[in-house]
Amino acid sequence: MVTMSSMRAIGALAFACAAFLLMAMVSGPTPACAEAKSIIAQDARVAGDRERTRFIADLSKKVDVHVFALANPYRVIVDAPDVNFQMPEGSGKEKRGLITAYRYGLFAPGKSRIVIDVGGPFLIDKAFVLEPRDDQPARLVVDLVPTDEKTFLAKLKEAKPADPESGAAMPLPETPARAEDAKPVIVLDPGHGGIDPGTSSATGVTEKEVVLAFAKSLKQKLEATNHYEVYLTREDDTFLPLRERVEFAQKKGASLFLSIHADYFPKQTDRATGATVYTLSEQASDDEAKELATKENFSDAIAGVALPSDSDEVVANILIDLAQRETQNRSTVFARSIVGELAGGLHTRKLRSAGFRVLKAPDVPSVLLEIGFLSNPDDEKHLVSDVWRERMGASIVEAIDGYFAKRIARAPF
Ligand SMILES: [Zn+2]
Repeated sequence: MVTMSSMRAIGALAFACAAFLLMAMVSGPTPACAEAKSIIAQDARVAGDRERTRFIADLSKKVDVHVFALANPYRVIVDAPDVNFQMPEGSGKEKRGLITAYRYGLFAPGKSRIVIDVGGPFLIDKAFVLEPRDDQPARLVVDLVPTDEKTFLAKLKEAKPADPESGAAMPLPETPARAEDAKPVIVLDPGHGGIDPGTSSATGVTEKEVVLAFAKSLKQKLEATNHYEVYLTREDDTFLPLRERVEFAQKKGASLFLSIHADYFPKQTDRATGATVYTLSEQASDDEAKELATKENFSDAIAGVALPSDSDEVVANILIDLAQRETQNRSTVFARSIVGELAGGLHTRKLRSAGFRVLKAPDVPSVLLEIGFLSNPDDEKHLVSDVWRERMGASIVEAIDGYFAKRIARAPF
């Protein structure tokens, strides 16, 4: 639940420069949580030109919003309490003036977000919410004007976002103590969610929905063996930053982490088919793996999470070098086990690897599985089919059983 006071606190920390990063705290009664749920965003549009571009969203009533900018890439973030988005299909794809696209969705429980992509350096000139009037709905208005790179960065620095999600290096969570005879914990991680749909097929089937459906079905199958304790990083259409997925697995004391995704190959819709298995490495195994890791790592940027600075990444990499060799070995054993079980259903038998941020838990063997290609119409049929899900799930259970049957998985660190 996002209260007025917590939003104000975040705002006070993050936005010293009112002229640039305008936090539109709209006066009025504090919305109760139940009341906030009833806010509906019915439509949005972009007006103006490159000199001044206006983003407008129609709302069922006035809402407190929190508006700020992010760099790399250029974005405007609008945070609000739980909003029910009922936008017309295709919303967010129009390009106009400074705005190249926008998207919206649940960012965290009780917190909604609109992310507006901007084509170049900009200033938030105005951001406010208008009361409904006569037959007009309440309106969120954000005005952007162009500026130069230097001014943009200076204003951003001035505002010093103190967002807890900003990626500063944080200590690793303690792994909970577990009884020796406790069942191994498996964390399944359906990728994307909420504001970040992931990739999508030509007919509009999204990665976030097919991977969630598959993860839920796989969880049931694993639990039915009575051998494992299984958790999902997300149970519904909610966004989760990559680092929180990693931390979730660590906090649960996971013995295995499986991140589940679906791929897209625009130029090879027929050729690219089947599942692909990936592990973590600093040097990508090949260009395809490198490209995919870049795409998957972009999830946080899509959702408007500030990415870690380079120095934080360096620290993280050193930690990997020291602590992760054994974990890497186990990840590879697990990845091979999946490749062995999937056999015919694979895009390639080759184990691929790249710098996937979601696989960076130094103490949890982690694999990323692309279950198929949404760009391929045959794969798409599979990805939404219960029969296929059953078959694929059964193979993954075999792979997991096979992994735990090996000595390496049972040995303590
Ligand atoms: Zn993905």
